[in-house]
Amino acid sequence: MPHISGSDIAGEVAQLGKLVDGHSVGEKVLVSPGLRCGTCEYCTTGRDSLCESYKIIGYETQGGYAEYVAVPGENLIPIPNKLSMEEASSIPLVFLTAWHMLVTRARLVPGETVLVWAGGSGVGSAAIQIAKLLGARVIVTVGSDGKIEKARELGADFVINHHTQDVPGDVKRLTDGKKVDVVFDHVGEATWEKSMRSMAPAGRLVNCGVTTGGKAEVDIRYVFVRQFSLLGSYMGGMGELLQVLKFFEDGRLRPVVDSVFPLKDAAKAQERMEKSQHFGKIVLRV
Ligand SMILES: [Zn+2]
Repeated sequence: MPHISGSDIAGEVAQLGKLVDGHSVGEKVLVSPGLRCGTCEYCTTGRDSLCESYKIIGYETQGGYAEYVAVPGENLIPIPNKLSMEEASSIPLVFLTAWHMLVTRARLVPGETVLVWAGGSGVGSAAIQIAKLLGARVIVTVGSDGKIEKARELGADFVINHHTQDVPGDVKRLTDGKKVDVVFDHVGEATWEKSMRSMAPAGRLVNCGVTTGGKAEVDIRYVFVRQFSLLGSYMGGMGELLQVLKFFEDGRLRPVVDSVFPLKDAAKAQERMEKSQHFGKIVLRV
């Protein structure tokens, strides 16, 4: 402390270091949020987030709530055509995370059913779209009825209010008793047991975060008899970010911008997120 937050960054190149190739001053770029060594066994096999020196910009370093940000040249990516600066800044971390979870870790395939917890969150709104892109059937939970229609617009086949409805019961009913093949979770303690009860035999639970806490009980008998897989996921590789960005060119994926605040109102923006009033990403503009 004092810490400058902000892991998702887009802007114009103001100045280039002597060793940076392939970019020019004034170019519009977004920033890949992962810092890596680039030479270890993990980096060279595309598993950047397993690198010993891996860091997330704005989380483990000073970040993007700022007029100027210094990042390695290799982290700069030209902004896809058609996207505004606000839209571009709302893509990197959440779409990379959701892609790594559903494609690389859970290996979601067409015809499968996935349960996405908290579809109104940044990562949840990305997951709904990626799951549909992969040809899956998508059941989404939201925390208020006002978010139901927005989740549907992104492609959710079914939407459940996780505060007023019984998620495992509804999942069972909506799938004719079969339950889901993949659970997409970033909530942790509050959802763990309900996730377990929502999974079909051979189900995969993929998790990238614990906003409600990290302790949960596991009934091991349930895991081995039903042959569940519990998959951890953390960010993703630069190559995966480049892969997911391709789908923004033709509009098959789209950024979900909840609101835009001036940088001086960062505290108000944080409050909006803390109160779960947002759907998608909140952007700060300099
Ligand atoms: Zn490395």
